[in-house]
Amino acid sequence: MITKNTQKTILVIEDEADILFSLKTYLESEGYQVVTAENGEGGINFLQKNPMPHLILLDMKMPVMNGWEFSEHYRKNFSQSLRAPVIVMTAAADAEARAREAQANGWLGKPFSLEEITAQLQKFLGTHPG
Ligand SMILES: [Mg+2]
Repeated sequence: MITKNTQKTILVIEDEADILFSLKTYLESEGYQVVTAENGEGGINFLQKNPMPHLILLDMKMPVMNGWEFSEHYRKNFSQSLRAPVIVMTAAADAEARAREAQANGWLGKPFSLEEITAQLQKFLGTHPG
């Protein structure tokens, strides 16, 4: 049985509605509390008004404020001790390089499998809360 207190919160920042919906559905089915933003600006706004989530999944190519710009604001406005790990999601062939550019903690190359997401969640959050 999952209680709210033991739930871990994941912020998903992604401009493609179908990807965002799929991720939210999957992560919620795994027992996580999911909050979403459709671009980096929405993500920053969320972080300024709410407790820090446990993990951030970040798309790179987005309108208004992209993943690189989000990362810059994030590092500038939130101290290192406060910051949640960031996992970059990118279709780029060199996903690892994109993650380095954004100084992210991990990366998922699109398209990624549920197993690949689960591996990242376990790496950064420990065993899932279910
Ligand atoms: Mg995108």
